[in-house]
Amino acid sequence: MLELRDYVYTFAKDNKPIAHALPGEEIVFHTLDCFGRQIQSEKDLLDHLDYERCNPATGPLYVDGAEDGDVLAVDILDIETAKTGVMTTIKDGGALGRTCEMRTKILKVEDDFVYFNDIRFPAEPMIGVIGCAPSGDPVISACSFNGGGNMDSRIITKGVTVYLPVRVPGGLLAMGDVHAAMGDGEVCETGVEIDATIRVRIRLIKNFELNWPLTETKDFWFVNTVGRDCDSAIQRGYEEMQRLIMNAYGWDATDACIYLSAQARVEANQAVLDVNERDETGDTFRTGVPKVKEKPRLIP
Ligand code: CA
Ligand code: CA
Repeated sequence: MLELRDYVYTFAKDNKPIAHALPGEEIVFHTLDCFGRQIQSEKDLLDHLDYERCNPATGPLYVDGAEDGDVLAVDILDIETAKTGVMTTIKDGGALGRTCEMRTKILKVEDDFVYFNDIRFPAEPMIGVIGCAPSGDPVISACSFNGGGNMDSRIITKGVTVYLPVRVPGGLLAMGDVHAAMGDGEVCETGVEIDATIRVRIRLIKNFELNWPLTETKDFWFVNTVGRDCDSAIQRGYEEMQRLIMNAYGWDATDACIYLSAQARVEANQAVLDVNERDETGDTFRTGVPKVKEKPRLIP
């Protein structure tokens, strides 16, 4: 089986692929924690971090036959984490930053639990960064955009499929930033950051319009959007989900809207980020609807 161990720090059409794969292949991505292993003890605080080495994404993988206008389906078959994770606060970072001091916590992850102070909670390993390259300017792997990137969606876990729009030849898939656990919103700006081994199967869907990443769980579809603020991210999620429902179910815009008003879920991925002039540094949300067995799938 193909095993990938090299990293990039951008999603970019000019990044040189480290390997090629055929649709249907299983591939293993070995990923580093989001700090690139710069944090090794609780004495290491984020004020000494080299941000150039943060958010390494393993890849990019060139998928043979993938072209602009296609969709790459990534079945997440397994995520195995290391035994130690890291959480940190960032000076004034996130919604509660002003109430926090700089602190690093090294957390044991064992037997499917994360050990925190005097309690433990279930480990639910998830992929923070996953995406294909944009056709335009490079996007750094710390950011989220309409090709994926640092989406930090806690539902991107073992058993789901992530559908990513392909915009350049080969797609140039990369992923990293696994968390052993992360809460919705990631309020202090870190999950339980951890090295991992991700096993996926790649499939190719030819010529299907998808404007944002889509995640398929056992019972739901979720589109993943980003915006300068929560409102604009959620607006885009509703618009893309409305379009997908109209196409798949044969309903008009009004019925799709009324249906969303009855059945949609809106959940926060990242809702705490500092916004500057570029959209992809803003908030990210996932907008979902239940699967309906009487109706076609939202994506073939
Ligand atoms: Ca992240
Ligand atoms: Ca992270």
